[in-house]
Amino acid sequence: MRPAKRLRLRFSSLQLLLLLLWAAPRPCAAGDEEDDDDDAGLPGHKDRHWSYKDMPEWASMFPNCDGHMQSPININTAAVSFSVKLEPLLLSGYDLPPEETLPLKNNGHTVLLGLPKKMTLSGGGFPQPYQAAQLHLHWGSGHTWPGSEHTVDGHRYAGEIHVVHYSSRFESFEEAASEPGGLAVLAAFLQVGMETNEPYQHILKHLSGIKEEGEETAVAGFDVAKLLPYDFDRYFRYNGSLTTPPCYQTVNWTVFNQTVRLSQEQISMLEETLQGDDDEPIQSNFRLLQDLYGRSILSSFHTLEKVHPPGGGPSEEGGDQAEPKAGGVLSSPLPDGAPRDGLDPTSGKDAEKRVGISLHTGDILAILFGSLFAATALAFLFFVHKHRRQASREQATKPAALYTLASTDEHAL
Ligand SMILES: [Zn+2]
Repeated sequence: MRPAKRLRLRFSSLQLLLLLLWAAPRPCAAGDEEDDDDDAGLPGHKDRHWSYKDMPEWASMFPNCDGHMQSPININTAAVSFSVKLEPLLLSGYDLPPEETLPLKNNGHTVLLGLPKKMTLSGGGFPQPYQAAQLHLHWGSGHTWPGSEHTVDGHRYAGEIHVVHYSSRFESFEEAASEPGGLAVLAAFLQVGMETNEPYQHILKHLSGIKEEGEETAVAGFDVAKLLPYDFDRYFRYNGSLTTPPCYQTVNWTVFNQTVRLSQEQISMLEETLQGDDDEPIQSNFRLLQDLYGRSILSSFHTLEKVHPPGGGPSEEGGDQAEPKAGGVLSSPLPDGAPRDGLDPTSGKDAEKRVGISLHTGDILAILFGSLFAATALAFLFFVHKHRRQASREQATKPAALYTLASTDEHAL
């Protein structure tokens, strides 16, 4: 397991370097576009184009993007604080009848599903309910380029779903979006698994019909909650921002501790089907990590309870396929990410399915113990060698019967 970890560590560094090169500013390939349905469906920015290729330029057009409460962030599980106020989340109205159709759109940045406001989010320590506005996805490119926005202990997942809600204190999403605490986003990591995730297929099967930017179709209502992990009890919470311009710092982020699994084919559908304004596939539509600037991250559960799963080890997306369900081990504190549609009712709260130590910490420990082992082995070999030389010398002068006692003297030397 240790060599694999070290390999992955090197690979992650290479990934970071390549990502930095990729993220270097490049000229925009197309003109203005409508951004009114982007990450948060915000109006008033239709004339200001942005793309993931010019992230460093966002702040010049959208000053909030340079703030100190930006998202996404890395969740360092060793530094999160447990909060008793973070009760289980309550979702209601999520199970929509088939006759209630939902708009599914390619907005040039992602695939976005419009949601009715009767879908509400409460509990979770929120003082008032939030109403749903839309959901969308973030993904990477190719099998080895994961595309979640948040990371956990430095680990980036294949993708991420965001279900965007706005506070019921406001009349509309637009009104709430720029107000403190106005928004609440549920985020869950997407991970590669062995089986097709049927609830996700409900969306993915329509992608080929909205290939071009701006295209829209209608999707029959379904239980939207099945797109999320089934464990609503364990999650992380922090205050952050929209991850796309205008980067309003008004979001209560809830990041689930449990992941959701999609098949490799489904992840590939995400990565290869939709096209952006430059007629190229929409890929790696995630924002780079933002500084915490002293913000605290809360958790609804004791992260120290985490334990290593039996036989488990860190894996990049797709690397866990040998264990399709309960053994889906992540290099993070996240437990198995079986789909929420009942495919794996046994996983979830069981302690052995929760992964204890992060990739980062695991690597450090592996290197530390590896070094200690090597040093001990060398010292032992040196001792044995020395012992044999001395013994052979003494054997030439002493009777064999005294040999065993001689070792005491040797130690005294
Ligand atoms: Zn998003």
